[in-house]
Formats: sequence, structure tokens, C-alpha cells
Amino acid sequence: MKADIIKTDKKYIAGTYNRFPVVAVSGKGSVITDENGKKYIDMGSGIGVTSFGFSDKKWLEAVCGQAAAIQHTSNLYYTGPCATLAKILCRRTGMKKVFFANSGAEANECAIKAARKYASTKYGENRYVIATLNNSFHGRTLTTLAATGQEHYHELYRPLTPGFSSFDAGDMKALEKLNSTGTLAAVMIECIQGEGGVVPLDPDFVKELYAFCQANDVILIVDEVQTGNGRTGELYAYMNYGITPDIISTAKGLGGGLPIGAALLGEKCENVFSFGDHGSTFGGNPVACAGAVSIIKRIDRKLLDGVKRRSEYIFSSLSGAPGVEGVSGMGLMIGIKTSRPAAEVVKECISRGVLCLTAKDRVRLLPALNINEKTLKKAVGIIKKVCAGE
Ligand SMILES: *Cc1c(COP(=O)(O)O)cnc(C)c1O
Repeated sequence: MKADIIKTDKKYIAGTYNRFPVVAVSGKGSVITDENGKKYIDMGSGIGVTSFGFSDKKWLEAVCGQAAAIQHTSNLYYTGPCATLAKILCRRTGMKKVFFANSGAEANECAIKAARKYASTKYGENRYVIATLNNSFHGRTLTTLAATGQEHYHELYRPLTPGFSSFDAGDMKALEKLNSTGTLAAVMIECIQGEGGVVPLDPDFVKELYAFCQANDVILIVDEVQTGNGRTGELYAYMNYGITPDIISTAKGLGGGLPIGAALLGEKCENVFSFGDHGSTFGGNPVACAGAVSIIKRIDRKLLDGVKRRSEYIFSSLSGAPGVEGVSGMGLMIGIKTSRPAAEVVKECISRGVLCLTAKDRVRLLPALNINEKTLKKAVGIIKKVCAGE
């Protein structure tokens, strides 16, 4: 069986993924079972997606109930879950309007379109440049690749969408210089660079950037695709930094496992789109939205305190441990700089029944927000041993 699935996949699936030899069959809580019955503790949650783990009762009820009622309508008609989710997201962030998409890249596409339309309508069509940070990651479409400040993602796909310019985090001079050309429409950041190696931005820089954007009417887009929805111990990571973005994009953990993305538009951009300016066939799908409502409703103070408690446990267990050179991140978004190559650590963890991720040269952990604390202890114990080479 196992050989068959892997063989068929290798033959028929485009070669973009170098998968690990695990065929996942079922999951419960934070444990995945493969087709041989081997169990793995999931410390990656499908790259920060399965926020409440697997077979989560409330999410399942919401999703199955909505699928049985009506699974899709297109955006020609109204459905309840879409409106409810948008209302919750606005109330909890202070944003004014939501556009729903199906992925992080699409949420960012919408954020970029909104910022460009705002700036060009107000200041003329030369004001279209979006500044992003070096070492950032914003998605795989040609436009979000252009936004991504890592050259190696660009190489095979030129020409990319024009109008993007990247600068180093902390380098306000570079940003001021760019702004002096009169072309700067927006700045887009991740508060913690995820794919870039779990690198939190310096709070002073973020505050300075926020003040700069406000003073110059430059739209501040915060990409919360990975950092959002409780991941860092606050509902959104920007809330740790005391700023208010003009646009928030999010996806990954929002849906708890179904594809959904959202661009949240603040006061400046709330009315930027008119009929036909943007759209999506699947965006706001009622099943995905019903699942997301069940997730976002439960990300309350108690849950977030639990995220912080689990985070402190991981930080204190791994910081200074043999073979661990450093631990970075916030909440349950954690990067571990290991003495051994990260890929080797991940491979060995899998053979010992723990699924971890990598980000650049780090081992990355993004466990479910409600991971059972006993299960977490077991996983951290195994990771610790593997790091030490035991
Ligand atoms: C994963 C990610 C994206 C892309 O999301 P997709 O759903 O894969 O399109 C964009 N930005 C950040 C910060 C991400 O981590």
C-alpha cells in the first residue's frame, strides 16, 4: 500500500515537493497515524494550518454541518458564515472590511491591489511601489514572488511583476530615499519572518516604520499569513508591537485546515474597491468560513495564555541545551538554531516519531495552539535528544 501511494505520487505529481516518506492516514489531536499504524507527534501542524489539531470536534461539526447544508454558492449570493467571519475579524482587529480569498498569496495579492488603488487614486498612477523587506516571504504567485525579498525565489521566473523594492529591516534611510522619489505606495512586512528563519523584527524599527507610514500616507500592510490567528500568543502578531496596520493579510491557521485567505482593510482602504475591482470564485466559501468561525471564536485570552505557557516551556527546555545554539520566535512560532544541520535533525525526529519543519538553517516548530501538554513534553524531549546527538 505505502509503496504504491508513494510510487503513484512520484509518477503523477509535479516535482515541486520533496516529501518525507510518511503517508498520513488519520489524525487525532496533535498525533498523526501513518498507514502502517506508526504514530507521529505533529509539531508543524501542516505549516501552521491545523490550529486546533486533527478531529477537532467543534471544527468538524461546523464544517460538516455547513457542507451538508450548502457547500458553495459563488459570490453572486449571500451566505451566513462569510458575513459572520468578516464581522468577527473586524470587531477583533478594528479593521473595517474583509475580502476573502483562498490562500496566503491571494490574500497578499488583494492587499497589494488595495494599496495600489488607494495610492494611485489619491496621488496619481506613478505612486505604485510596494517596499518589502529583505529575507521576507509573501507567496508564490508572480506578484507575491516579486514582493518576496529573497533573490533565489526569483531566479527562474523573470520578468516578475514590476513595482517592488526590498530593503533591510531597520534601514529607515533606504525607505526614506525610496519615498523621496514620490513613487512609494505601501510597505509590507511580516512581524516575524517565518520562511526567512523565524526572525522577529526589532520593536523599535516596527514603531518607527509605523510612524513613517502614518506621516507619509504610505499604506502599511502586515502579512499575518503565518504569524496570525493566535500563533504568537496574541490574535495577530502586530498586537505584540503596539501598531495598527492599514491592511492585514492572513490565511494558514485561520481555516483550521481548509483553504482560506483574507485581506482585512482598515479605515483608509475600506471603500477602495468597487463592484468588479477584484473577485474570487471560491473566496468566502461557506464551508471554509464556517470552519474558520469555529477557530477564531475560540482564540480568546485563555487560549492565548495557553499558547504563551507552552511557548515558555519550549523556550526554557531548549535554550542552552546541548546542540542548541539559539531559540528564536514568539508564542508557538519557534526557530531552533541547531549545531547539526537542521535537515538532519528533522529527518531523525521523523524516524523517532516527531514531525518538525525547517526554515532556512533552523528547525521550525508550529504546533497546534492547543497541543496537549504531555504530548508537547514528549516531543520536546525527543527533539532535545536529537539535537544533542543522543
Ligand atoms: C505561507 C506564507 C504565504 C503564502 O501562503 P500560501 O497559502 O502558501 O499562498 C505568504 N506569506 C507568509 C508570511 C507565509 O508564511
